Parts: sequence; C-alpha cells; structure tokens
Amino acid sequence: MTTIRTTCAFCGDVELIPTELSLELTAMTGTGAYVFDCPECGDPQRRPANHRVVSILLATGVGYQVLDEASPITEDEISRFSENLNRSDWAQQLR
Ligand SMILES: [Zn+2]
Repeated sequence: MTTIRTTCAFCGDVELIPTELSLELTAMTGTGAYVFDCPECGDPQRRPANHRVVSILLATGVGYQVLDEASPITEDEISRFSENLNRSDWAQQLR
C-alpha cells in the first residue's frame, strides 16, 4: 500500500494512506489543498497543494472534489478560455 508522508503542525512527520486524505481542487488553476486528520493527535490538518502535489496525490488514488471558484473571472482567464475554443479538438474533449 502506498503511504504518503506529510507533516502535522503538532506532531511533525506523519504517514498516511491515500484513503485518509482528500483533495480540494480549484477548477480554474488545477491546484488546491489537501486535508487529513492527523493519525497521531487527530487534529484536522489542511495543506496547500501545488500542481506537483496534486498530481502525486491523484496518482496514488486520493479522492478529490472540485470547488467552484466564487471569485470573478479575470481577463486572463477569459483569454485562455478563448484560446481553448480556437483549438480544433475542443469538441472531442467534451465527449
Ligand atoms: Zn498531529
């Protein structure tokens, strides 16, 4: 079984199995946070997850949920969205 090594704010290094963590992904960025209850002290912990951490956790089978962004859409996001629409294969990605 894969173990994931992380840290608790109180206990230091702890080891978890994938079912003990869950990921909260932000739809627009693909980054987010992971949450777990410390196996030593039981304290709920929350850590930021960058792209690398997200892909590692997903690869080990950690469950996730996608959070809706409440913040307004930026110009940058609109232009990225338009670029994606211009790609010829976008219709295929919907299927
Ligand atoms: Zn702890």
